[in-house]
Amino acid sequence: MANNVHNFKVVLVGEGCVGKSSLILQYIENTFNSSHITTVQASFLTKKLNIDGQRVSLAIWDTAGQEQFHALGPLYYRNSNGAVLVYDITNESSFPKVKVWVKELRKMLGNDVCLVIVGNKTDLEKERHVNLQEAEQYSEAVGAIHFQTSAKLNEGVEDVFLALTNKMLEQAAKQRS
Ligand code: GDP
Ligand code: MG
Repeated sequence: MANNVHNFKVVLVGEGCVGKSSLILQYIENTFNSSHITTVQASFLTKKLNIDGQRVSLAIWDTAGQEQFHALGPLYYRNSNGAVLVYDITNESSFPKVKVWVKELRKMLGNDVCLVIVGNKTDLEKERHVNLQEAEQYSEAVGAIHFQTSAKLNEGVEDVFLALTNKMLEQAAKQRS
């Protein structure tokens, strides 16, 4: 088993402009763009990781601007091992959208899908409109890990994907046994 590569599919979901594409670009290419990223060429980008000798290949899927569940179509989220549900801490309505996505993803992918909920744009703390405690409590209640990030300052971004990968590895080990 040690030489096998774990291939995991991860989807990013959330309202438009919360920073999904920015998080992916910061994680994979270490760049940040202050304008809305409209041209993501590939439907997914890959990242290779080695965690305690376990090789992992992450296929990270971006929405390409299709933020509605039904607009995305089943190809997008089908066979996902994990999902990153993103809201913008300065955008009040982006958090309830996450709750809708949690329900949809659980329904579609089952209870085993690994979920991480991310409050992005922490560099704009002064403009916060989503209560942190509420977001943390909700995440715990639905069995998701909660993180805060700034894609702009590259804060917490790596932690999100690392925690999610660890959770997916745990899940894979559980399914093998
Ligand atoms: P998407 O629609 O969810 O993919 O969002 P984008 O990644 O295109 O980002 C939308 C806008 O928010 C862009 O103008 C980004 O530059 C900006 N943005 C993304 N992440 C951050 C962040 O952490 N801090 C700040 N201040 N702006 C961000
Ligand atoms: Mg985008």
